[in-house]
Amino acid sequence: MSAPSRLAMVPFVSVAQMMQLVHRIGLAAMLRDLADAIEADFLRWEDFDKTARIPAHSREGVIELMPTSDGEVYGFKYVNGHPGNMKEGLQTVTAFGLLAEMRTGYPVLLSEMTLLTALRTAAMSARAARHLAPAGARVMAVIGNGAQAEFQCIGFQAICGIDTVRLYDIDPAATAKCARNLAGSGLRVIPCATAEEAIEGAQIITTVTADKRNATVLGDNMVGSGVHLNAVGGDCPGKTELHRDILLRARIFVEYPPQTRIEGEIQQLAPDHPVTELWQVMAGTAPGRESATQVTLFDSVGFAIEDFAALRYVLEKARETGLYTELDMVADPDDPRDLFGMLQRAAG
Ligand code: NAD
Repeated sequence: MSAPSRLAMVPFVSVAQMMQLVHRIGLAAMLRDLADAIEADFLRWEDFDKTARIPAHSREGVIELMPTSDGEVYGFKYVNGHPGNMKEGLQTVTAFGLLAEMRTGYPVLLSEMTLLTALRTAAMSARAARHLAPAGARVMAVIGNGAQAEFQCIGFQAICGIDTVRLYDIDPAATAKCARNLAGSGLRVIPCATAEEAIEGAQIITTVTADKRNATVLGDNMVGSGVHLNAVGGDCPGKTELHRDILLRARIFVEYPPQTRIEGEIQQLAPDHPVTELWQVMAGTAPGRESATQVTLFDSVGFAIEDFAALRYVLEKARETGLYTELDMVADPDDPRDLFGMLQRAAG
């Protein structure tokens, strides 16, 4: 990372620029790139300062900060989760993020991350499934057809070779929206009237619902042997999607255990219930799926290193394409001790 300019202008990637970037690179290609970037950083897991994210809870939802650093670069994401927002015409999840140089502390990127979170979450889920899903899986059920859903579908198509998605949402309008958006994707899209119908013949089940309670989106009798579960929506204390009995017979994979034990499906289990860290599977130091009949579960909550990897990728692509705006965000007088003088001179 180069030294900050004298003016310390900070590249800012807006929502419009992020959308242009996705179209310039191509959605499937960008999802694959993000999965590669995340896996590369998971493979140097020990280099990172890690902490469970810092939440501020309210009755309606949560606002969280997700910081990490590899010693050279620092990054954080601000993200919220408000399941009731949708009824007011607002997003459930919005986010932005920042990268800074550890050496000087100067920011080097500010970026929208609402779209980037949907992209990196899908890339992460699909890359995890490539390690964990049964060989030859082609059919995925997607329960919860809101903002994240299409990204998950395209991510699994691009990264795992899924060719069919079976969609279900308690709100048929969400399923119709999702099916409409996926027309032309090359996926066979099957809207379903119930969760039971959606999981028929699916080797992968993605749950990506939003409800601030311990929901049972999937019951134990709905999960057959050999299925891979990608549980994305349960990501906060008191907010889960799977019946506890499913967890008791699944082999469970997580991002960062201290965070997932607070936020993930496994908050329903004893604090010492065995889990496998995904980075170890990627590194080859822990096994992934062990048999064709094993039920595997990626208990996704989203971890700071995924956002760090995504932001570094965006910074590189923004520089390559020029798709950013410079923000006058850091006060940086020519004489670093003359901050006051800079203010005085601005009066003229
Ligand atoms: P959204 O509000 O846009 O969509 C959620 C959908 O779930 C809605 O269409 C709703 O009708 C549906 N739903 C709610 N309860 C359901 C049920 N019991 N069965 C079927 N459908 C149901 O939200 P979103 O932005 O798509 O996010 C979905 C979830 O994913 C949220 O809980 C969010 O916090 C979580 N999330 C997790 C990560 C991660 O890294 N793990 C990242 C982003 C979002």
